[in-house]
Amino acid sequence: MEVNTTQKMDEVNDKTKYWETRLKEMGYRLSGPRRIILSKLSENREYLSADDIYMMVKKENPNIGIATVYRTLELLTRLDLICKISLGSYRSFYMLSENCKKEATNYLICNKCGRIITNNKCLDSNIRIRLKEDAEKNIFKNCRIKIDNYQIFFTGLCDKCA
Ligand SMILES: [Zn+2]
Repeated sequence: MEVNTTQKMDEVNDKTKYWETRLKEMGYRLSGPRRIILSKLSENREYLSADDIYMMVKKENPNIGIATVYRTLELLTRLDLICKISLGSYRSFYMLSENCKKEATNYLICNKCGRIITNNKCLDSNIRIRLKEDAEKNIFKNCRIKIDNYQIFFTGLCDKCA
């Protein structure tokens, strides 16, 4: 138990140091809102909306306003510390860059609540691999485009909304 707590503390410290260094390299410092947003995103493996992030930030520091959250999200996206996907013209979702580069090749989007589920377990890995390979071959055959990455969006109703 104690080991786990110490390990977790070490992880948090390592991450904080990493963000601090990255921001410093680009001429920025790790301000309070930046640190809170990055740590909230690092605790979540799913894409979060700006509103979700704002609610989490507010719990930790009620003095941080929504405008600061939006501004910080834009900055962190520009600096490539977080990645952003936009659905339609009005909703944007965010994830820590190291997480979205590692996973997330398929997104399941709920039409009702707008939740995005990026859990790769929802689709068996053999189907995922076959889908990718078939698409790769077919796209190359038809259009001579060699793809190196792909994203698939499925829409429907999530377990809570169904
Ligand atoms: Zn839903």
